[in-house]
Amino acid sequence: MRIHRENPAHPSELVGSVPITPPQAVDVIVREADRRFRQWSARPLAERLARLRGAADALADDVAELAELLARETGKPVADCRGEIGFAATYLRWVCDRATAVYVATEADDAHGRLTITPEPYGVVTAITPWNAPIILSLLKLGPALAAGNTVLLKPSPLAPLTVTRVAQLLPETTVVHGGPELVQALIAHPLVGKVAFTGGDAAGRAIAAAAGQALKPVVLELGGNDPAVFLDDFALTSDDYERLVLASFATAGQVCMAAKRLYVPHRRAGEFLDAYQAAAHRILRVGDPLDDAVTMGPVVTRAAAARLAALISDSATRGADIITLAEGPRGEGYFIDPVLAVGLSDDAPLVRTEQFGPAVPFLTYRTEDEVLSRANDSDLGLAASVWSADEDRAFAFATRVEAGFTFINTHNRTGMSLRAPFGGIKNSGYGREYAEEGLREYTRPTVIHSPAAFRPGGTGMPARAYPPAR
Ligand code: NAD
Repeated sequence: MRIHRENPAHPSELVGSVPITPPQAVDVIVREADRRFRQWSARPLAERLARLRGAADALADDVAELAELLARETGKPVADCRGEIGFAATYLRWVCDRATAVYVATEADDAHGRLTITPEPYGVVTAITPWNAPIILSLLKLGPALAAGNTVLLKPSPLAPLTVTRVAQLLPETTVVHGGPELVQALIAHPLVGKVAFTGGDAAGRAIAAAAGQALKPVVLELGGNDPAVFLDDFALTSDDYERLVLASFATAGQVCMAAKRLYVPHRRAGEFLDAYQAAAHRILRVGDPLDDAVTMGPVVTRAAAARLAALISDSATRGADIITLAEGPRGEGYFIDPVLAVGLSDDAPLVRTEQFGPAVPFLTYRTEDEVLSRANDSDLGLAASVWSADEDRAFAFATRVEAGFTFINTHNRTGMSLRAPFGGIKNSGYGREYAEEGLREYTRPTVIHSPAAFRPGGTGMPARAYPPAR
């Protein structure tokens, strides 16, 4: 049995296929990963990091070829695919640079006693990843997990299984398994799997958290977002800013967890904003074949996704929204959806309330800051957000009241990321963090060896029912 993947831009083209791993094979696979873990974790950190640096170099060397495959299986523009893979190599090198400071035991031997705190790997980590940025989203788990001494079983999305399987071959101690929910359940339930890392949508996230809860496994959940972009009344955007904003919503045809998914603009500046936004969209959005380097937006990922988005847009029109088409894509073959702004929706419309995950964005207006704050926060999701203002202090002050794991100022989406800044959601957008030292620490747990001063040889002892002194 195999998973076959078609090209979303040319659905009749089969890009490739991968073998399905039967759930019955899980026990053998996990035991082997656990055996490898014992060897890998026993190697000096410097040796593990040398292997990972070599993998980062190999990844960077293969960018062009891998990017073409990624574009064909996901429908993402090939230039974006090159960017993603290059960034993944950069991230892996960054992990190697930071690992020696993070994955190190701390030791004390003083008047309070002798204490060793060791960041220990979990053993076998299971990583379950989505299709939309499969290389970086896998590396965010693999990089720190492997550096820390774990081995990894990687379960990619059936919608983008090909490139990531090739990338995994460049990495040490990584086994790729392909399949659906049943396979994931079997992996999580296996007693030798120590940690679960998931990025994806709400439904899968709940199923994975439930399985992890049942098995008492720690889990990182990076889930969806419905990110608001709030423009304070003094916003001052150049034409470059508008182009960046357009791509913050429409890169990867809007199928990005932290895309700008709701735009809130002051009522009195709506006309000016819409004119400049549409002009920028006409300049920057080229919808077409992802393998064309001039293209900035490809198709959506599946026929079902295209049908869901078409329904969401027609529902918005039925509710009286003005649907502004920002660019036109190819007609006929391919899962293309023209990028649109929906102007004039009320806050209860599905396009406003739910994560659209596609190239249709609601444009909303407001009159006061308190009003826009409460509307922006009125969501069960809290992944990212952005605040735009000519006054950075004012933007920061407003941002402290926005309910999001990551708030960008005067930009949104990937242009606002930083390797040193932890990324992850609040509310139903998940828990745990990626990037930064927090992302590295997800793959170890501190274990302690402690000899209290009072009971060391020659110590003074302590009454049996006493509590320890303050330190
Ligand atoms: P998805 O949830 O459909 O699939 C993600 C992974 O989970 C895949 O490997 C899939 O095979 C597996 N899966 C699906 N259903 C499952 C189940 N019931 N049990 C176990 N595993 C299951 O998501 P997707 O369509 O690939 O990606 C889109 C979603 O991911 C969006 O909601 C997006 O916002 C979110 N996302 C979040 C982040 C983040 O960092 N927070 C990043 C990218 C994408």
